[in-house]
Amino acid sequence: MSTTFFDPTKCALLEGVYQGEGPASLYIDGQWQAAADGATRTITCPANGEKVGVVSEASEADTERAIEVARRTFDEGSWAETPAVERGKILLRTAALIREHKDAFAAAESADTGKRLPESEADMDDIANAFDYFGTLAQHGAGRVVDPGDPSVRSRIDAEPVGVCGLITPWNYPLLQVSWKVAPAIAAGNTFVLKQAELTPHTAMMLMTVLEQAGLPKGVGNLITGAGARCGNPLSTSPLVDMVSFTGGLATGKLIARNAAETIKRTALELGGKNPNVIFADADFDAAVDNALNGAFVHSGQVCSAGSRIIVEASIHDEFVAALVERTKKIKLGGPADADAETGALISDEHRQKVADYVDHAREQGAKVLCGGRVAEAEDNQGSHGTGNTDLSKGWFYLPTVIDQCDRSMDCVHDEAFGPTVTIETFSTEEEAIELANDTEYGLAGAVWTQDAGKAERVARGLRHGTIWINDFHPYLPQAEWGGMKQSGNGRELGPTGLAEYQEHKHVYQNIAPAVTGWFAG
Ligand code: NAD
Repeated sequence: MSTTFFDPTKCALLEGVYQGEGPASLYIDGQWQAAADGATRTITCPANGEKVGVVSEASEADTERAIEVARRTFDEGSWAETPAVERGKILLRTAALIREHKDAFAAAESADTGKRLPESEADMDDIANAFDYFGTLAQHGAGRVVDPGDPSVRSRIDAEPVGVCGLITPWNYPLLQVSWKVAPAIAAGNTFVLKQAELTPHTAMMLMTVLEQAGLPKGVGNLITGAGARCGNPLSTSPLVDMVSFTGGLATGKLIARNAAETIKRTALELGGKNPNVIFADADFDAAVDNALNGAFVHSGQVCSAGSRIIVEASIHDEFVAALVERTKKIKLGGPADADAETGALISDEHRQKVADYVDHAREQGAKVLCGGRVAEAEDNQGSHGTGNTDLSKGWFYLPTVIDQCDRSMDCVHDEAFGPTVTIETFSTEEEAIELANDTEYGLAGAVWTQDAGKAERVARGLRHGTIWINDFHPYLPQAEWGGMKQSGNGRELGPTGLAEYQEHKHVYQNIAPAVTGWFAG
């Protein structure tokens, strides 16, 4: 049985994978293949537990094989020397193919993640836009000429590919995170081995078919599917890999950085966040409440930039929290194809348990849970969170949760829950708001709400986070850099820097009037 809205065995973009004896979801050197030891993994939909498909589960030997192909393809040289305009065209064709197959991509993404179909469809638009952006940028980013201040010297910076890139991505926005790495890696002329999160492999597999159709030469892009602990390590340890770009949790990021240090690999790390949403008393009240709800509960809070920490001016705390709780209690939960649902399930039983433990620990430390605070049961189907169309007891649903009376001594304001929870703290002065918002080991994103433009600017400047929203929450642009300060990571994705991450900048200095230097007398 597969989910009603997505059957991978009938998906045109997965023909190579599900032909023959069993799944062959590793794409290496332009060939679909099974794991060498025949291992497989069953993928289930988090919203209802139904089987989505069975894919190959790679081991380190499979990863090493893929790395060798990527190395050989890069060293052979013709790909890196393909004109940037041609590489850009491959990306533009990829964008067009993603748009053409948008429904299939969105259905696959929703089947793997449990995300509502309209959300996955919006993600596909963003993904196509990212390919368009880097496809266009590839055609313009040809290095630069430097003025050496000497007429007998020519000096220029060449933008060259880094080489073989290991790309490791998480399950929350599976293809989006892939696109932010694969598109600039191709634009810059690298070869790559992509390791998609083990729980959500299907859209990355479909992308490999689309890249092939768009003209990506074989061996340039390689995909492995499997658990990080089983197959991931070679991407950060192998001397054949030049760069590792990772998006995921802080603990894994630290491991990858340690591994990569051994061969001085270039690393790009996009890690977690604990993102403050600072609300002043003079904010547009209704917009602030509505966006606080979006910030915290979109995709059930499984968003690295989720506004999971509200810091509200004390004078409006009671009114603000009452309005937030009233709306939180009405959020409708449901499966991907449930037209009345507003948000979906958590990715797995294990992850839901982590969220439940986080909330229980907040209670133990004295915080007050005002609503939610438990897993969804069958009785919730007819309650304020139910739509009547989805049996919430069959999926990994957790009720949207507001946790009040929090302070800095509590773990709940520092730990990333990555679930549908939001904590509330209060402040009295602008300085205190900034201090609280910066009191986190993370530094990914934050927001400030006020109608005072000067105050908004001062607070935005004071916040040590990679993205700051003023009177908004969540939007991002492919042409604007995305990434974290402090332990939210290093490097940037998107924007011109998102391409530069995948380039070496070589200085070529030419003396057109060579002469004796006279430096040594003998
Ligand atoms: P995770 O760290 O558990 O896994 C991420 C990826 O790393 C998966 O593909 C996993 O298989 C792989 N992996 C695990 N061990 C590995 C190893 N030893 N070698 C190589 N790969 C290995 O994270 P997750 O639970 O999938 O994702 C959630 C986390 O990702 C959250 O902390 C979230 O904030 C973060 N995230 C950050 C951003 C961002 O832009 N900063 C975006 C999305 C998610």
